[in-house]
Amino acid sequence: MRPPMCLICYRSLGDDLPVSSFKLVRFALTPEEEAVEREQAREGWTGHPAWEEWFCDEHTALAEEHSHLHWREAMELLAQQRKPPRQVR
Ligand SMILES: [Zn+2]
Repeated sequence: MRPPMCLICYRSLGDDLPVSSFKLVRFALTPEEEAVEREQAREGWTGHPAWEEWFCDEHTALAEEHSHLHWREAMELLAQQRKPPRQVR
């Protein structure tokens, strides 16, 4: 599992936000992907699945509006909502 960082605005725990400001949103899977997930769970896999992403409290609602979509489609639509990346230092 990756540490929380909002997919849309890139805010993270490093921005002095508590972990409670972030929510892991799960998007829809194909039946094949659901089978893969069940297999991974059986094997005790603890990685970060491609169909779950973190969102901050500002963007959780937006993400949840898309959570019924297949994750590839949802990620694409949500990526269009992104602000340009902040200037880093
Ligand atoms: Zn955000």
